[in-house]
Amino acid sequence: MADFDYDLFVIGAGSGGVRASRMAAVSGMRVAVAEDRYLGGTCVNVGCVPKKLLVYASGYGETFEDAKAFGWQNEGATFDWPTLRDNKAAEIGRLNDIYRNLLANAGVTVIDGRARIEDPHTVVVGEERYTTERILVATGGWPFVPDIPGREHILTSNQVFSMDTFPKRVLVVGGGYIAVEFAGIFAGLGAETHLSYRRDLFLRGFDRDIRTFVRDEMGKKGVHLHFNQQVEKIEKQDDGSLLAHAAEGAPLAVDMVFYATGRVANTRGLGLEQLGVVMHRDGTISVDDNFRTSVHSIFALGDVTGEPQLTPVALAEAMALVKHWQTGQAAEMDYNNIPTAVFCQPNIGTVGLSEEEARDSGIPVTIYKSDFRPMRNTVSGRDERTLMKLVVDSRNDKVIGAHMVGPEAGEIIQGIAIAIKAGATKETFDHTIGIHPTAAEEFVTMR
Ligand code: FAD
Ligand code: NDP
Repeated sequence: MADFDYDLFVIGAGSGGVRASRMAAVSGMRVAVAEDRYLGGTCVNVGCVPKKLLVYASGYGETFEDAKAFGWQNEGATFDWPTLRDNKAAEIGRLNDIYRNLLANAGVTVIDGRARIEDPHTVVVGEERYTTERILVATGGWPFVPDIPGREHILTSNQVFSMDTFPKRVLVVGGGYIAVEFAGIFAGLGAETHLSYRRDLFLRGFDRDIRTFVRDEMGKKGVHLHFNQQVEKIEKQDDGSLLAHAAEGAPLAVDMVFYATGRVANTRGLGLEQLGVVMHRDGTISVDDNFRTSVHSIFALGDVTGEPQLTPVALAEAMALVKHWQTGQAAEMDYNNIPTAVFCQPNIGTVGLSEEEARDSGIPVTIYKSDFRPMRNTVSGRDERTLMKLVVDSRNDKVIGAHMVGPEAGEIIQGIAIAIKAGATKETFDHTIGIHPTAAEEFVTMR
């Protein structure tokens, strides 16, 4: 057997790469991981974590307003972006250190720098060459921005967390997770916020009732929604502001244009093409059920292999792959019923099939819905509602989809996801005693 420097060389210390490195090292493999930018990857540095901190920040404005009806006097609250940005950066720095310690304690060698694969058993970082039995590509994704005139003025999620000043007027382009989350963040922190989406209703793929409900709630919060609009050009004005031109409607003057138009696989310069690693048309890496690419010693997982692009999916894939290596059994990765949350305001939580997906698959469904004003808003008078929806297979009473728009929807749907994974029927939901008074109890009282 060839004598390699490592048993496993992981490229990318993001969600998937860190988890795979640690699990593999703990199982006795000699592991190195190369990281180009920041330990913890997208999620920790420019994704889930800083995003959620900004979402928390953006909720305070409404909380201050609502508090008045509950007897609190708090006139004069103002928002200071540098304070939030710098406190967030300090927290991310703390997490980066934790990741470095976790890897070191597991016995993983961390190599700082951009890696490239020279041959199926050799990785190069800077001037150094490392031989390895297996290579795992976990290089994640990178924001995609369409090639339009004025593209250089556009910010993406890679820059937004560290911007110098907070904009007064923002145009968000896109209609997926990041666009709706950031429209909520900008609006909540006080910016005049516009969201432009190329089709008739954003959040394609989510249950239609959820999409229309979020549209209405975002509208009530003052986000200007421009559907069926394609931005074609961004122009910088003499006063530093930006003018966004679309085929439809008058040009829009803003201080910042933020694009959230999807992410592409981060494979540039890795050397995969030269090695003959098969990629999909969209640039993601093709892998089999055991995460093996078309080159025997090279594996890939996480965002670089395509959807669903979620941290818990990358983590689960990493654990499935290392277990596969340990046991020799097929990797156990189940992509059914993956719960997810969109941290727009109010939040979306969802698991299983949408009503449309169920009907399109020919499943006869019974739909249960509850649309109500959360108790907190009765006293405050805030005009924000909550929606809950269950999709039930009429043939066997199984709950095959649960969807919610409302405060803490992600927290609630996580528990419902376990029930759905366990095959719960609507009758099981009905026989479950509610927790009163909560919003979540509606999921067991819908008739
Ligand atoms: P990544 O975490 O992207 O890690 C890849 C790493 O590889 C990076 O650190 C990169 O620097 C490194 N790298 C790339 N090329 C090289 C190279 N050649 N050499 C060395 N290193 C390299 N998911 C959720 O589940 N919940 C959320 O709330 C959520 N919010 C998000 C918000 C935003 C704004 C974004 C952008 C994403 C969000 N995601 C969220 C998605 C989540 O961040 C990704 O699904 C997850 O990070 C994917 O993990 P990964 O390991 O595949 O890749
Ligand atoms: P998404 O794929 O979710 O959405 C991309 C959006 O951009 C879609 O609305 C798409 O429109 C639109 N779009 C694509 N190309 C163009 C174009 N050329 N011109 C105009 N619009 C365009 O990507 P995001 O960037 O929002 O997020 C990337 C991924 O990160 C998500 O899919 C998700 O997996 C993950 N993520 C998860 C989060 C969470 O779990 N809470 C939060 C943030 C990100 P169309 O619908 O027409 O295709």
